[in-house]
Amino acid sequence: KRVEVPASVHKINPKLVDERAVNVVLTLKKAGFEAYIVGGAVRDLILGLKPKDFDVATTATPEQVKSLFRRAFIIGRRFRIVHVVYGRGREHEVIEVSTFRAYLDASAAEQVNGNEKTSRRALEGVQHAVDASGRVLRDNVWGPQEEDAARRDFTLNAMYYDPEREIVVDYHKGMQDAQKRTIRMIGDAAARYREDPVRIIRAVRFAAKLNKLEFKLDKATASPLQECLPLLADVPQSRLFDEMLKLLQTGHAVATIDQLRALGLNKGIYPLLTLAVERADDPFVRSSLQDTDRRVGEGKPVAPSFLLASLLWQDVRDTWARKTAKGKPPFVGLQESIDEVFEARIGDVSGRGKLAADMREIWMMQPRFEKRTGNSPFSLIAQLRFRAGFDFLRLRAANGEIDEALAEWWQAFSTAPDYERDDLIAQ
Ligand code: ATP
Ligand code: MG
Repeated sequence: KRVEVPASVHKINPKLVDERAVNVVLTLKKAGFEAYIVGGAVRDLILGLKPKDFDVATTATPEQVKSLFRRAFIIGRRFRIVHVVYGRGREHEVIEVSTFRAYLDASAAEQVNGNEKTSRRALEGVQHAVDASGRVLRDNVWGPQEEDAARRDFTLNAMYYDPEREIVVDYHKGMQDAQKRTIRMIGDAAARYREDPVRIIRAVRFAAKLNKLEFKLDKATASPLQECLPLLADVPQSRLFDEMLKLLQTGHAVATIDQLRALGLNKGIYPLLTLAVERADDPFVRSSLQDTDRRVGEGKPVAPSFLLASLLWQDVRDTWARKTAKGKPPFVGLQESIDEVFEARIGDVSGRGKLAADMREIWMMQPRFEKRTGNSPFSLIAQLRFRAGFDFLRLRAANGEIDEALAEWWQAFSTAPDYERDDLIAQ
C-alpha cells in the first residue's frame, strides 16, 4: 500500500538535503517525469544523519535523463544508471539516477527469460537471467514505483522523498520501522538472501551502522542469516572483497565485528574478514580498526592498504623474524616474507595490484625507519607513501613493538623545517 508520510511525521531537515539532488529531482519533474530521492539517503535523513551520497529514482529512462543534463553519463551493464555530475576535480559530486525497475522474484525472472519473445517486459529490451540457486543476474526491466520499492532490500531503504512536496512515499512501513528502530527485510528474508546473498552482508552492515541509534535486526530478518551464509560461495570474490571493505571502512569496523560475532557469522563471508574477526581483540589490530573508525568519523580519508597491512602484520613479522634468525639479510627476508604472506592470505585479491603494492610499501618502509643517518631519512620522507608508513610505525610504537622514542624522532623529523633536520640526524 502506498502511503504518503507528511513532514510533520518524517521530520526531515531540509537543510540536510543536498541541493544538487534537489535540482535533479526538480529538473526531471519539470520535464514531466516522476522523480524522488531514494534509498539510503532517505533512510539517513529520516534518522537525522547526514547522507554520504544521494540517489534519485525516476520514471525517465536513462536516455531521457541524460538528455536533460549537461554532464550526464550512462554507466553500468548490469544496471544501466545515469551519473549526473556537478562541479569539478576534488569538489565534484555525482548524483546517481536510476529508472524505476520492476521486481522480478526468481520465478518471474525465469519466465521472462524463457519467454523472451512474448514477454511484455522482455520486449522492453533487456534480457533477464536467473542462475540455478535463483539469483537474478540481470534486472534492467522498467516497472512501476511500487515494484521498484519491492525489489529493494530493507524497509528503511525503500522510501522515496519528494523534496518539493516534502513527503515521503512508503510502501513497506519503513517509517514505522524507523520509529521502532527495526531493520527489516522486505518480503521473506530467506528468499531475499537466496535471490542476492550479498544482502546477508548488507544486513550486518546496517546493523553495525545503526547500532549506535539502537536499531536491531528484526527477528525474522536475522534468523535465516546463519543458514543462508553458504550461499555466498556463489558470489564473485571481487564483490565480496568490496563488501568486506564497506564493512571495515565506513566508520563502523568495531561495531561490525561485534555484530558478526553476535549473529554467529564469524566465518564464511570472506577469508580476510574471518581473520579480522579472529584478530579483532589483538591490541595492534584493534587499534587499527578503532583508528579507521575515528578517521572516517572525522571525515578523513582511509586506505584499505593500511588496515589490511595491520591485519596481516603479525604473519609478516613472524615469518621475517624466523628468516632473520636463520641468517637471512633483513631486507631480503622481509621481501620474501611479504611474498609468502600474500601467497597464503591474499591470493584472491592479487589482481588488485595497487592495493598489494601499497601494503608492500608500508611494510618495506618499516626497517628503513631504523636508519637515522646520512641521507636515508631524507629519501624516506620524500616517498609518496611516507605518511602511511609512518602511521604504521606509530601504531607499532603504541603497541610496544618498537621504542616510542623512534616514532617521536620521526614525528619531529617529518615536521621540522629543513635547517633543523640535520641537527636531528646529528643527534
Ligand atoms: P549506504 O549509506 O551505505 O550507501 P545505501 O542504502 O545507500 O547505504 P547502496 O549500496 O548505496 O546502499 O544502495 C542504494 C539503495 O539500493 C539501497 O538503499 C537499496 O534500496 C538498494 N539496494 C542496494 N543493494 C541492494 C541489494 N543487494 N538488494 C536490494 N536492494 C538493494
Ligand atoms: Mg548509498
